[in-house]
Amino acid sequence: MTATSLTLQPRPIDPSVDHEIQAIVSGVTAGSTCSTELAAGPWQFDARPGYGPGASMGDIIPTGSPQQGSLPQEYRDAPDEELHDRIRAAKATLGERVVVLGHFYQREEVVRHADYVGDSFQLANAALEHPDAEAIVFCGVHFMAETADLLSRPEQAVILPNLAAGCSMADMADIDQVEECWEQLADVLGDLDTPDAEGLLPVIPVTYMNSSAAIKGFVGRHQGIVCTSSNARTVLEWAFARGRRVLFFPDQHLGRNTAKAMGVPLDQMPMWNPTKALGGSDEQTLLDSRVILWHGFCSVHRRFTVDQIDKARAEHPGVRVIVHPECPMAVVDAADEAGSTDYIRKAILAATEPTTFAVGTEINLVQRLAAEFPQHEIFCLDPVVCPCSTMYRIHPGYLAWVLERLVAGEVVNRIQVHSSVADPARVALERMLAAKPTGIVA
Ligand code: SF4
Repeated sequence: MTATSLTLQPRPIDPSVDHEIQAIVSGVTAGSTCSTELAAGPWQFDARPGYGPGASMGDIIPTGSPQQGSLPQEYRDAPDEELHDRIRAAKATLGERVVVLGHFYQREEVVRHADYVGDSFQLANAALEHPDAEAIVFCGVHFMAETADLLSRPEQAVILPNLAAGCSMADMADIDQVEECWEQLADVLGDLDTPDAEGLLPVIPVTYMNSSAAIKGFVGRHQGIVCTSSNARTVLEWAFARGRRVLFFPDQHLGRNTAKAMGVPLDQMPMWNPTKALGGSDEQTLLDSRVILWHGFCSVHRRFTVDQIDKARAEHPGVRVIVHPECPMAVVDAADEAGSTDYIRKAILAATEPTTFAVGTEINLVQRLAAEFPQHEIFCLDPVVCPCSTMYRIHPGYLAWVLERLVAGEVVNRIQVHSSVADPARVALERMLAAKPTGIVA
């Protein structure tokens, strides 16, 4: 045997987080996961209240959150390859009648069947390219399916394969609490619908895309607007051109990180805790405020720490640290860059030299990027494998089930937003689409 024939080729990277979790739980590899229950089929948790194992497992789920009924036994028992064959066959039968959307954070075993992969807003827009599709199967979480329903034609059915796939962050802004907050703010700031002498309203409500349709409808009714993690700055500029201050929900971190980068002082960004009178602030603090931050967060991005960044820099000299703006402020400040999932992907795509990237976002996306770009070393800042609990509730078994029901002529798990909410929510989304950078700084 010659020396040349001994040269090892780099092993392909497995993009499957599920494979890694199974290997950890069975003891084949030495890594760690936040819950060994992640190795089980999600149907084990469908009858159980809560978000299920993963990053949101410690969060309190609101009473009355949608639950998934029992997944038929044949889908629970089917081996993975059989499920993949059945999904492919159902898609082939349905042809143009169905479009399958897969979020960046979705497990690899589901994403491989998606016609489009992207962030929530990219996917809602992708659905628009298929006005003739009878069904849009959204492999993401509940608020994403709602947004697709808002933007699609009324006769198109938007399907969420597992109804238990909510979002703990979106659930942190409950419409009743938001209405109550609005009333309390009116007591302090005066009539919220009347502009002052300079034409500015006392407060403009801004909601992150990661919120329920009810919240999007609320901001639509109150001169407000929706933002994504890609356009949050443009949207805040839009809001500051129309109001004295902003009420931002549900994600305090995206709001704080964006406003801070625009020059808003931290002491003008009080937090609104809905369980406390005046959100835990006093009248003067609210009068002096520029951005009132709702007390919400993403349990996936809250796991990232400055210590993890320090460790990555110590162990990988020259590492490029990119994190999502849903991470806490100290983490964003310690990183080299912060940006949306689309930003992270494009940053890696644009790197022309082999580079080491430490990424602070959901593990399924990081692992897929590592497999897609083997010329770079790409790893997740958090060494513990802990996916988004609710994204992980969608398993190929549920996708096979909803597609085969469609073949049989039955729509299951349809997500429909009532017109009383949908109409103002669309207004808020349209304002976002029309918003242009103004250059206004806080
Ligand atoms: S990653 Fe965070 S914001 Fe996104 S769906 Fe999961 S819990 Fe919600």
